[in-house]
Amino acid sequence: MADRDFDLLVGPVGCLVPCHQEGPRRGAAMRELPVLRGGAVGVRGDEVVFVGPWKEVAAATAIRRISAPDATVLPGFVDPHTHIPFVGDRAHELALRLRGASYMEIGRAGGGILSTMAAVRAASEDDLLGAARALARRRLAHGVTTFEAKSGYGLDLENELKQLRVLAALAAEGPQTILSTCLAAHFVPPEYRADPDAYVTLVCEAILPAVASAKLARFCDVFCEEGAFTIEQSRRVLEAGRRHGLLPRLHADEIVDTGGAALAAEVGAVSADHLLTASDAGVARMAEAGVCATLLPGTAFYLRKPYAPARRFLDAGVPVAVASDCNPGSCYTANHLMVLTLAVFGMGMLPEEALWASTLNAACALGEGDRLGSLGVGKRADLCLWEVPSYLHLFYPFAENPLGTVVCGGEVVWESC
Ligand SMILES: [Zn+2]
Repeated sequence: MADRDFDLLVGPVGCLVPCHQEGPRRGAAMRELPVLRGGAVGVRGDEVVFVGPWKEVAAATAIRRISAPDATVLPGFVDPHTHIPFVGDRAHELALRLRGASYMEIGRAGGGILSTMAAVRAASEDDLLGAARALARRRLAHGVTTFEAKSGYGLDLENELKQLRVLAALAAEGPQTILSTCLAAHFVPPEYRADPDAYVTLVCEAILPAVASAKLARFCDVFCEEGAFTIEQSRRVLEAGRRHGLLPRLHADEIVDTGGAALAAEVGAVSADHLLTASDAGVARMAEAGVCATLLPGTAFYLRKPYAPARRFLDAGVPVAVASDCNPGSCYTANHLMVLTLAVFGMGMLPEEALWASTLNAACALGEGDRLGSLGVGKRADLCLWEVPSYLHLFYPFAENPLGTVVCGGEVVWESC
């Protein structure tokens, strides 16, 4: 670094929102979102090396500078729950749902998860990668610099591995950071309908070991829900994943309270997701065990269901994250700011809470709170420059996309035209 102070210097920034602290933000502290007026962010390589007042670095040398006196700079959004990669169009299901059809009826008509399973099984690895890449680019254009992504539409050894290989290829292309999850226990595939336990055995004894030995996933997930997998089956899957070094996370208490929140605490899950129907006891267990609650307001909106009780988790001191659940059936959107808008206007979170929940807390829900999700020295330089005077203006007006520039790993990777 002899010839320059920074590779990239962002400043002066009108409204700099670092979202930075040690560990996740919880409880009443989430209502406070510290802001630096006239701040700056200095980057070397892919790492943040300075966050502070502009006047301290105004005379510094840098290869590239971005001046943002009228803008708001935040960490890039971290989305801790998506169902990328997928192919297939389920628009006809939307039409049926809007006319009042139930999921059962849609399932009987050949829709639902099994419809996407058929499309994913039939797709080539290249086609699946192309679809995932296109969606990742759309999400980058909405400020998402990190996302979790998962299998779960293959539902057999070959196709679960295919989905996870696609994610590995996409992660290698960049620019976004992608953390992969094996969700082989998403649904019982038709060939095992008569014997779901035999499918659980396949997941535990064949799919998870193969995924782990190929190093294709960090997490093991299960759809713990009436009609999907029972508590006992879910425990088997998560314990098998754990034996193979895959960290547990789960889809819990979305439609019916089956005790998923308590199971998440019992197995030491990094995160329990959905949680629309979690019991008070389950919430308390999650708070004690430090399990993140990942809430998905876009899904409630899209399915026209009541939102998850965000305030109960916030009041209990559970670290709360917000995610998109981006998938082709129950929440199809690339617009992450819209998801945050639903967290605020639908789920009753404050803008400050929604921003913690989609940056640092979301990184913590992926076990990456030390590296991602905030602007602090030593963190990966993922940041978004929003062309608004304050973070409040991300919600006022709503359903717009005032994104100006996206920096991923210290590189400018997207700019508005
Ligand atoms: Zn999901």
